[in-house]
Amino acid sequence: MNQYENAIEQLRKANRYLKYKESVVDKLSKIERFIEVNFSIKMDSGEVKVFRGYRSQHCNALGPYKGGLRFSLAVCEDEVKALSMWMTWKCSVAGIPFGGGKGGVEVDVSSLSEGELERLSRSYIRSVAEVIGPDRDIPAPDMYTNAKIMEWMVDEYEKVAEKPSPGVITGKPIERGGSEGRTEATGQGGVYILEELVKKAGLDRDRVRIAVQGIGNVGYFFAKLAMNLDYKIVAISDSRGGIFNDGGIDVVKALEYKEKNGNLAGMPGVSPVGNEQLLELPVDVLVPAAVENVVDGDNAGKIKARYIVEMANGPVTPEADDILTKREIVSIPDILANAGGVSVSYFEWLQNRSGEKWTKEEVLNKLEPLMRDSFIKVWENKEKYKCTMREAAYILGVRKVVEALI
Ligand code: NAD
Repeated sequence: MNQYENAIEQLRKANRYLKYKESVVDKLSKIERFIEVNFSIKMDSGEVKVFRGYRSQHCNALGPYKGGLRFSLAVCEDEVKALSMWMTWKCSVAGIPFGGGKGGVEVDVSSLSEGELERLSRSYIRSVAEVIGPDRDIPAPDMYTNAKIMEWMVDEYEKVAEKPSPGVITGKPIERGGSEGRTEATGQGGVYILEELVKKAGLDRDRVRIAVQGIGNVGYFFAKLAMNLDYKIVAISDSRGGIFNDGGIDVVKALEYKEKNGNLAGMPGVSPVGNEQLLELPVDVLVPAAVENVVDGDNAGKIKARYIVEMANGPVTPEADDILTKREIVSIPDILANAGGVSVSYFEWLQNRSGEKWTKEEVLNKLEPLMRDSFIKVWENKEKYKCTMREAAYILGVRKVVEALI
């Protein structure tokens, strides 16, 4: 099944408890608006090249559409649609007044020069400008996009709109209206969730061993902040492969090593580990923080972790979910675990509208209770309905959306 079919299947599974009519499930399974744009830019060689981009707007019952922009060759219609649907549930679970959106461009950013990347970012946002806006649809960074790209995009959008519109995009640089704490927000939010999980499961924090797949923005800050709390990070990886050390990896040094040498492999004192092998390591907590569908029907039977904290979107397929549940492996779903990013995006949007500037401490003081309370509500649902954490999160998130719709 592709990601969009997976997302619909997850909704249907949750509906075994919610028991909405088929017409409601049908409405929630559909994307309210989906656009494909084909735009061209001039490459450094002088050649003109066409790129394909998308924006998907799943549901705005709770507020303006909100969701990241991904630049990757794997970006496609089904992926963007699924990601926008997950955003709807995520904002609802976190209690944020936003709906679900997502976008992306089919491109390998490593093949572009800085100038080409800027022209591509500006051209994409120009192509979708008429369907986005501070009260309509608010993009943010996701895989292979960052604060610099968001800055180019806001700048271009403001030219089209002919007025200052900092609230049209979140995840901007601080000096351009970004929020303190946004860069590390998703990882930080995940660590608050990890802390709640450890409490509920009665684990001993300094004995918890963690493997993190994908050491990008989300995975790096998750691993670093967990390490600072004495969790042992025994394995990390990027798209080229990973490293393992039973005694723990200093993730800050590992990233410094990668930045200097271009690769994690070769770092002294660690052994290499493949991305698939990393998923099957005998750890307490597995943290997929890269792409979708990495735990599927083929490898779910081989996962040795007792808990999975889904920092990536959609890393566990519905088929894998069934196998993991039978094996009593608890998966903390993406729509709960990685909501820290959109939560601080919401704080950024609020600051842009009010002209306020919050300190990092103020941001974290709002983020922490939001994440911990969401976890507790989902956990309570799990106990009440005797279901999985994913179903419990869907019960919470989908119900609020349906109540707003009818
Ligand atoms: P990023 O581009 O900063 O990092 C992605 C990392 O994953 C890189 O280290 C890359 O090398 C690695 N990677 C790519 N393919 C891989 C593979 N097949 N196996 C292992 N590693 C691989 O992206 P990010 O912003 O950290 O996003 C990571 C995930 O988190 C995505 O699923 C994204 O949708 C999700 N997410 C991001 C945010 C956010 O605020 N950035 C918020 C919520 C969810």
